[in-house]
Amino acid sequence: MDKIVNPQTERILVNRLFLTGGHVQVDIVRSLFDTKMAGLLDGAGGASCHLCTASDEEIKSIDWVRSGFTINRLISDAGQLFDDVNEDHFLKLPSKQRLGITHKPTSDINIIAASPLHAYLCVFWWYMLLIYHLDAGHKVWSPSDDKVNASMRRIRAILLVKCSFSVDIPSSQGGTSTTGNIARNCFLDKRDFLKWATSSINLSDKLLLEKIQTYLSVVLRLVNSGNLINCSKMEELCKETYEYILVQFPWANVTPSLHKLLSHSFKIIGEYNNGRGLQNLSEECLEACNKFVRRIGKILPEKQHSLTMYEIF
Ligand SMILES: [Zn+2]
Repeated sequence: MDKIVNPQTERILVNRLFLTGGHVQVDIVRSLFDTKMAGLLDGAGGASCHLCTASDEEIKSIDWVRSGFTINRLISDAGQLFDDVNEDHFLKLPSKQRLGITHKPTSDINIIAASPLHAYLCVFWWYMLLIYHLDAGHKVWSPSDDKVNASMRRIRAILLVKCSFSVDIPSSQGGTSTTGNIARNCFLDKRDFLKWATSSINLSDKLLLEKIQTYLSVVLRLVNSGNLINCSKMEELCKETYEYILVQFPWANVTPSLHKLLSHSFKIIGEYNNGRGLQNLSEECLEACNKFVRRIGKILPEKQHSLTMYEIF
């Protein structure tokens, strides 16, 4: 299939239950993917982006941003790459040449994954890392650097005491304390978030952070809304934001989530969601089930647990 298909309309399983006097048809529609699932389906486990074939260098290049954004990663291309050469030989090619493909795609439908909640969480995580780096005066992107980590611990404590925001604190389940609501409220600068998060940062950097926060907050609210969006205006805003980040913070990493938000969100809205924000595709309900799934995992013996998990999913 060489045409991008909206996964919202992809029918992956049709069961027919024959009953007396008629039948019931059950359609299960695949509509939500996280990045790991997208990588499993499209074979691009090593790619910077599951929507375009831009390399790690390109997504950090102003020239590439100015040249315009496109959704050009096609499952058929990935399958063809595998078919053209021996698999062992293919996997030895440089990642850029393989377009980040790590295995043969397991789907024949292009994956247009929209994750509005995770856009909030992941972009907020990137934004906090930017703050920690600036607070530490460490203008080389290295989140595990000791000075950056010290800033992170200090800013976390300040935000907890001054704003009652529990940000980036590792949880026992392997995630962090940052929720969608915390990310949303911080981007809206509730409880003077920015003032406290940047209390030790110089004024010029503080002003840059303030501007980025405003830009990202607007883009994220558009993505998470259910309103009709002017996608061409949104594209302009995304491009301006992307360029601003690259110009002001050339040393900062551009994470896949930030790239996806600024390069592709307006196109997903315009071409795959009838011009409306992606609120209808939010993972919030799905994520809310996590605690119940975890509870089941704790209660059931291992053998029964895996069977129940199979039935849940
Ligand atoms: Zn991309």
